[in-house]
Amino acid sequence: MTTKKAIVIGAGFGGMTAAALLARDGLDVTVVEKNEMAGGRARVWEQDGFVFDMGPSWYLMPEVFESYFESLGKKRHDYYHLEKLDPYYRVFFSPKESVDITSDMKQNQEYFEKLESGGSGRLKKYLDAAEYKYDVAMKEFMEVEYTSVFQFLNRKMMTEGLKLNMFSPLDKYVRKYFKDRRARQILEYAMVFLGNSPHNAPALYSIMSHVDFNLGVWYPVGGMGKVVAGMVRAAEEVGVQFQYNLPVERIIVRDNKAVGVETKEGEMLADVVLVNADYAHSELELLSPAHQTYPSSYWNKKVIAPSMLLAYLGVDKKIDKLAHHTLYFAEDWDLHFKQIFDDPAWPEDPCVYVGATSKTDPSMAPEGKENVFFLIPIAPGLEDNEEIREKAFQQGISQLERLVGESIQDHIIVKRLFSVNDFKNEYNSYKGTALGMAHTLNQTAVFRPAHKSKKVKGLYYTGQYAHPGVGVPIVVISSQIVSKLIREDLA
Ligand SMILES: Cc1cc2nc3c(=O)[nH]c(=O)nc-3n(C[C@H](O)[C@H](O)[C@H](O)COP(=O)(O)OP(=O)(O)OC[C@H]3O[C@@H](n4cnc5c(N)ncnc54)[C@H](O)[C@@H]3O)c2cc1C
Repeated sequence: MTTKKAIVIGAGFGGMTAAALLARDGLDVTVVEKNEMAGGRARVWEQDGFVFDMGPSWYLMPEVFESYFESLGKKRHDYYHLEKLDPYYRVFFSPKESVDITSDMKQNQEYFEKLESGGSGRLKKYLDAAEYKYDVAMKEFMEVEYTSVFQFLNRKMMTEGLKLNMFSPLDKYVRKYFKDRRARQILEYAMVFLGNSPHNAPALYSIMSHVDFNLGVWYPVGGMGKVVAGMVRAAEEVGVQFQYNLPVERIIVRDNKAVGVETKEGEMLADVVLVNADYAHSELELLSPAHQTYPSSYWNKKVIAPSMLLAYLGVDKKIDKLAHHTLYFAEDWDLHFKQIFDDPAWPEDPCVYVGATSKTDPSMAPEGKENVFFLIPIAPGLEDNEEIREKAFQQGISQLERLVGESIQDHIIVKRLFSVNDFKNEYNSYKGTALGMAHTLNQTAVFRPAHKSKKVKGLYYTGQYAHPGVGVPIVVISSQIVSKLIREDLA
């Protein structure tokens, strides 16, 4: 029997992991990537001794990675090393008020008790419920390939879902436990990372609090780039070939079957085409209208996840008040989400995430200096030019200076801004979204774009747009689902 060929478009976490799983299953796999290196949104940028993870830096749900490497017959620790962070992260509510969330649950509970009488017990109850939901979700929901609404709304999901308030808005659900703004923000902030607002995210996503409080926030030594490098090596060991600097210009379809891709170098033929590139780009720009399962009218109606203003800053001193991960939550939490989802505008009092992996890892910045990763979530599709982003950056960095009580601007020796237009140009991202599609209830599970084209045989999708959705471990699960689907279809 001849070996079947697969082409994977894109070397993000989705592409790398799906490619390796297909190669493990005996396919001859080539990954074709537009950019100069693997990682996609998790690429690395280095300048003057500063190392920046350009995208993800929170290593969450470690068991997903362990099981991925095991499914290749490998051990994760042969590819990169992990450390549990302490504290997991620091939250500023104002220059005078901050808290560290740590692996010491007693300390976290004491903090919640300070915020509200009875808060300690309620936090415990909230997290126990989140853990239970997480277990149900992992078994009944996350790793399932959905083909119909009925399958999604199966008896177990319905009974458990209703019992656990999985389908009501997260914000409403959290308010049943906590009235205090700060408590609610800590339990809801992860929605920003899921590209969502707590007002229209289902309470199912309270599982994210189990993910950070209970499973912990981990750090891959050397940064997320080491995870990418480890995954590329593991994929190459099972036979995957990577080709970089080679954007796919068209998916070749003959008799309604995907038979390969076209690049500037010509045609590359295959039995299976698996897309990891942004879903909307692939459908709208790589396929003719007749072959699109999701035409532009579909994308126009969807809630697209936020874009971001990112700044990669080399700072010539240590900033004492920063932790490895630091968050600032604006007092007007509702306005923050309104300006992203309802009334798109560059934010007035931006919520900010600041990463400084040099706090934990001296290899990430020259001695005595800090590699500051600065992130402001913004609406997708906003007008973006040098002037606008610089103004927003100045506003955000001044905010950070107020929080940490020292000057940063005068100490910046490396600076690169990255925003809406860069997401479009560098990743072919729809409206410059950083995170793909938001996780509203109507865009969850079976309601996300499918892993398999409904119009073209042999054409499949993985990555953050598909089920289960956004986030590095979640994308790895997406690849596990789609590789199983391809295996079954080929059999
Ligand atoms: C700033 C930022 C911070 C984040 N923080 C975290 C975090 O801390 N933890 C976490 O778990 N998640 C985080 N996320 C989310 C996480 O990074 C993503 O969900 C995940 O990396 C998406 O992977 P993917 O494979 O779906 O897509 P991508 O990483 O975008 O990969 C798609 C690939 O396809 C390529 N491509 C596009 N078009 C073409 C074409 N025509 N031909 C060839 N190749 C093409 C792109 O260049 C890219 O390499 C963050 C995201 C961002 C942007």
